[in-house]
Amino acid sequence: MRLILLGPPGSGKGTQAQRLVQRYGIVQLSTGEMLRAAVAAGTPVGLKAKDIMAAGGLVPDEIVVDIISDRIDQPDAKSGFVLDGFPRTVPQAEALDQLLKHKHTKLDAVVELRVNESALVSRVETRVAEMRARGEDVRVDDTPEVLTTRLASYRAQTEPLIHYYSERRKLLTVDGMMTIEEVTHKINRILHAIGAASKPARKAGSAKPSAAGARKSTKKAAGRAGKSAPKGRTSAKKAVKTGRRPAKRASGAVPKGAKKASRKVAKKLTKKRAKA
Ligand code: ADP
Repeated sequence: MRLILLGPPGSGKGTQAQRLVQRYGIVQLSTGEMLRAAVAAGTPVGLKAKDIMAAGGLVPDEIVVDIISDRIDQPDAKSGFVLDGFPRTVPQAEALDQLLKHKHTKLDAVVELRVNESALVSRVETRVAEMRARGEDVRVDDTPEVLTTRLASYRAQTEPLIHYYSERRKLLTVDGMMTIEEVTHKINRILHAIGAASKPARKAGSAKPSAAGARKSTKKAAGRAGKSAPKGRTSAKKAVKTGRRPAKRASGAVPKGAKKASRKVAKKLTKKRAKA
C-alpha cells in the first residue's frame, strides 16, 4: 500500500500515519522527521534546512525529493509506505509521480485530513503542553508565530495538491475534526472500499505483471470473487490474491468495501485481459 497523508500542521497526519504503520505493516516516511534528524546530526542537508524550518518556511524541493527518492529505495519501504509531510508543493508531487513511474509503481490513494483552521492553533498548543509535561524537547517551530507562517505556506503551496490529486482521481477526504479513533476507522473503511487495504504490495522496482500473468490472475479472481468466505482466516493481502474474502477482524465485521473491492479487482483484470 502506498499512501500520502495530506493536511495542515496539527491535522493529525503523524498520529494517523503511525496507526497505518501498525495496521498494514508499511513504513512512515516523514520528511519533517528526516529533516529534524538531519538538523540534529548537523549534516549538509541539516545545515541548509535548519533556519528555513525554524522560520516555518519550506525547504527547497530538490532537497526533499532527493531524501524521499533514497528512502523509497530502502528495503523496508518495498512493501509499502505512508508519506507524511511530502509532497508539499506541486513540483514535489510531479517529481514523486516521475519517481514512482520510474520504479514501476503507483500511489494507491491520497488521504486528505480536513480540519477547521481555528482548531489547529489550539491542537498544536495542546501538543506542546503535553510534550513539556513529559519532559520532551519541544520543536522550535511549534510557537504561535511560526505556526502562522507554517499555515500560510500550507495554504499557498500545499493546498493546491488537493486539486492536483483530485484531478487524478486519487483524493479521499476525511473529516479530521472527528476523534482520533473515528478518523482511523474512517480511513480504514475507505482504504477497504477502494481495495487498497487488501492489495498485495508489488515490489518497488519490479516489472509490471506480464500479460500472461494478468490473464491467469483474471481467471482466478473472476472465478472466485463474490463466493462466500472459506473456513479459516484469510489475510487481507491473500484475499485479493486468491479472490477470497478477508477474515473477520477483531471488531467483528467484514469491511463493507471488501466484497466490492474484490469485484472491482476482478473487473479491472478482465478489462486488462480484453485489452491484451
Ligand atoms: P508540520 O507539523 O508543520 O506538518 P513537519 O514535521 O511535517 O511539520 O515539517 C516541519 C518542517 O520541515 C516544515 O515546516 C518545513 O520547513 C520542513 N519540511 C518538511 N517536509 C517538507 C517538504 N516536503 N518540503 C519542504 N519542506 C519540508
